[in-house]
Amino acid sequence: MPTYHYQASTENHCDHCVEGFDVMQKLAEAKLTQCPECGADIKKVICAPALTSQLTRDSKKTLSEQNIEKNGFTQYRKVGNGKYEKTAGKGPATIDRENL
Ligand SMILES: [Zn+2]
Repeated sequence: MPTYHYQASTENHCDHCVEGFDVMQKLAEAKLTQCPECGADIKKVICAPALTSQLTRDSKKTLSEQNIEKNGFTQYRKVGNGKYEKTAGKGPATIDRENL
């Protein structure tokens, strides 16, 4: 059974629908238009199909950390607000943009 994600589409929402919630529904079932908790108008949020995220993950793998280092690049990943941690290559182990 597919799972649908719903989120409040108005300013009048409750804790339940402000962040959105998942509902298991049969394909034939009518989509929800109101939050079951507070009755606010809600909209169905379209989630990216699994196939798309799979492709994105695979294309990211082509630039492996070893390749980055071999080609003289340095890679950082964001670990917090303005903070970066080195994952490959030469350079400082961490970058804190607030100290630059
Ligand atoms: Zn609600």
